[in-house]
Parts: sequence; structure tokens; C-alpha cells
Amino acid sequence: MKISLPQNVAAVIARLEERGFEAYAVGGCVRDSLLGREIHDWDVASSATASQLRECFSGEKLIPTGEKHGTMTLLSEGMPIEITTFRVDGSYSDGRHPDSVSFARSIDDDLARRDFTVNAMAFASRTGLIDLFGGRADAESGVIRCVGEPERRFEEDSLRILRALRFYSRLTTRDGRRFTIEPETLGAMVRCAPGTARVSAERINAELCGILLSARAYETLCLMNECGIWRYVCGVGRDILPPEGLDGVPRDIAARMASLLGGFDRAEAERIMSALRFKKGDISRVSGLTDNFAADISDEYALLKLMSRIGEREAGMLIDTRRALGDAAADGARGRLDELAAAGRCYELSRLAVNGGDIAALGYRGREIGDVLRRLLDAVMRGVPNERERLLAMAQNSGDARDKM
Ligand code: ATP
Ligand code: MG
Repeated sequence: MKISLPQNVAAVIARLEERGFEAYAVGGCVRDSLLGREIHDWDVASSATASQLRECFSGEKLIPTGEKHGTMTLLSEGMPIEITTFRVDGSYSDGRHPDSVSFARSIDDDLARRDFTVNAMAFASRTGLIDLFGGRADAESGVIRCVGEPERRFEEDSLRILRALRFYSRLTTRDGRRFTIEPETLGAMVRCAPGTARVSAERINAELCGILLSARAYETLCLMNECGIWRYVCGVGRDILPPEGLDGVPRDIAARMASLLGGFDRAEAERIMSALRFKKGDISRVSGLTDNFAADISDEYALLKLMSRIGEREAGMLIDTRRALGDAAADGARGRLDELAAAGRCYELSRLAVNGGDIAALGYRGREIGDVLRRLLDAVMRGVPNERERLLAMAQNSGDARDKM
């Protein structure tokens, strides 16, 4: 279990050490190295202050991304490396934001303020792994455990409850076992759940999306019910029971939200999603999917009608979702849908071989034009070839347009 720092991260740490400062890779990158997961960003903690960082890296791209909190971002060969001065958080009177941030003397203090043992390790080549809270053992056995006393840590910052759930949904040990939540930590999550009412809706949305799009969404959502969290994060005073097939649903936020909220009526589902700050576009996608959970998909015509209502891509998403949720009607439907799409079958007016101008030229006027076009489209979806001459002849025969002139 050796941690290998990317060359530019090692160079940043070396530069700081040369100038007499301490510097370590910390947090998620150390955890993910030990777990053998892909690392998406490297964070460095250092004894150097922002102004000392400016001196150390003068002439390089150093962006004051969170200078008040001691965070500067170095762009090293295009790769952002966040460097944060050792910190301790002051007291938390609002259950979310520390009243003050003070800089700490040592990496030990900085690690002690971190949320979970697996997130509270530091590494530098000079020192090797610094693991004061048993993070390595917890990474090996797959345990999410608070640093320090769980109840106090969740009272300080309720976002940690949602972070614990997200890590539960995503982390696996090196040999592929799922993480568990250490019992005292879990007990404190249940007791402290009311505090999540103070977390901003944007942060709740980000954590919830992380959970929903994970490979273990079903179990994590069950755990969220155990914590009784919905009341506090979106005002739903009862469980939101996830469907059993949820983990097989495409990893698409609308497909997963639709699966989760399929049992709510449309107005309530939309209210929940806006309380959770989902984007308007996602909310209407969810409604488009749930409106069609029971739609006919048994033959070509039904599938083309579905495509005309919600589009080709979304129809595929719907069928995959219904299939994952155990809807036998969806078996085989995906293959038929793909064939229709590959054959370029027409399901929308814009692809019809005739247009409004053509119909007007036959003598139709006003609303009649749209009515005729829609009838032709329906005929084409039922199997009439989408050919201009044929459709024009049909239009001519179908109405007695000239009589009306
Ligand atoms: P990922 O980026 O994969 O979500 P991460 O652990 O890197 O996981 P970040 O939000 O990037 O999470 O935070 C970096 C580190 O900062 C964490 O590993 C943890 O040590 C610390 N941290 C972040 N948020 C909190 C918090 N709310 N309370 C205590 N420590 C935190
Ligand atoms: Mg991170």
C-alpha cells in the first residue's frame, strides 16, 4: 500500500519543504490512494500561509480560491493543486459554518478537525503516512468512523451526516468490499439528523445526487429513511422508499429521481424536487418519465408515439428504467426502439415528408393545416411510408379542402 504522488504534487511539497515549511498530501487523495480508487484531485496542507505561498510560488499561477480560509490553488501544468494552510475550525454556532477559522501550528491539529478517519490522513515522502486516528485500518476494513466524538462532530456541522451517507454509497475497500458505518457514528447520525435542516439546499442537492448516482443508491436511501432525514431536507414527513431495482436504473439523475419519486403524484414530486433545488430541466424530465411509467410500449406504433412525446433518447432512458424496476413490458422494447431509431422512422412533424406549405397549397387553411399534418404523421407512425407524393395524395383525399374555399 504505497502512496505514489504525481510528480508535480511531489514537486510542490518538495519546494515548500526546501523553504522550511511542512507540506503533505491530505484528505480524499490519501484515502483514495489507500483504497486503490481513481484520484480526482490532490489537496496539500501546509504550514505556509497564503502570503508565504505567494513568495514560494512567485511567477507561477497561484489563484486565491479561498484565501480567507487559507486556500490557494496552484495551477501546475494545467492541474489544479489546492494548498491550504494548517487550520483548526473555531466553534460552530449554526451547525454548519465555523464562527471563525484559525490557523494551526501542526498537521496533527489540522487532521483532528477533519470529518472521518479515512479522510484524516496525511502523506509526504519525508514522513510517510501520518495516521493519528486509525484511518488506515478503517480503510482496510471499510469503516466510516468520525474523528473524535460523533455526536459533537455532527452537531458542529450537519453536512457531515450527508457526507457520511455519500461515502457509504461510494467507497469500497481495495478488495471490493462495501464500507459500513461504525455503530456509534451511525447512532449519532440518527440522533443529529434534525440538524440537516440547516444545511443549504445546494449542498444537500450535491450530496443527494452523489448518492443517487452511486452503485449503492438503494441501500443508502434505506439508511436515509432510518435517519429520518427527509423531513429535514425537503419537508416530507414520512419515508421515501426507494424501489428495489434502483441500482440497475441508468446512472442519470432524472431516471433515478423518477424511480425514487414514482409513487408520488406529479405536484408533490415537483415540490420535493424544487425544495431540493433540482434544475427546472431535470424536474420536467422527471415528470416526463413518470408520466410514461405505465405508457403502452408493446408495439412499433406505441413506441413511436412515446418517442414523439418525450424524444428518442428519453424514450430509451424510460425503457431501461422500467426494465430495471422489473416491468416485464419493457423487455425487448429497447431493441425495438433502437431498430426504429436506426431505421430513421419518422415520429415528429419536422421529419414528415410534407410540410405546412405543402398542405396550404392544397387549399387547407389555419388550424386545418396542423390537423392534417398530425393525421399524416399518425398514419406514418402506423406504417404508411413517409413519401411526399403519397402523403400529398392522402391529404388531398382526406379532406374536401376545396369545398371549403
Ligand atoms: P471527494 O472529493 O471524493 O468527495 P474528499 O474527502 O476529498 O472526497 P472534499 O469535500 O474534497 O472531500 O474535502 C477534502 C477533505 O476536507 C476531506 O477529505 C476532509 O478531510 C475534509 N473535509 C471536507 N469537508 C469536511 C467537513 N464538512 N468537515 C470536516 N472535514 C471536512
Ligand atoms: Mg476532494
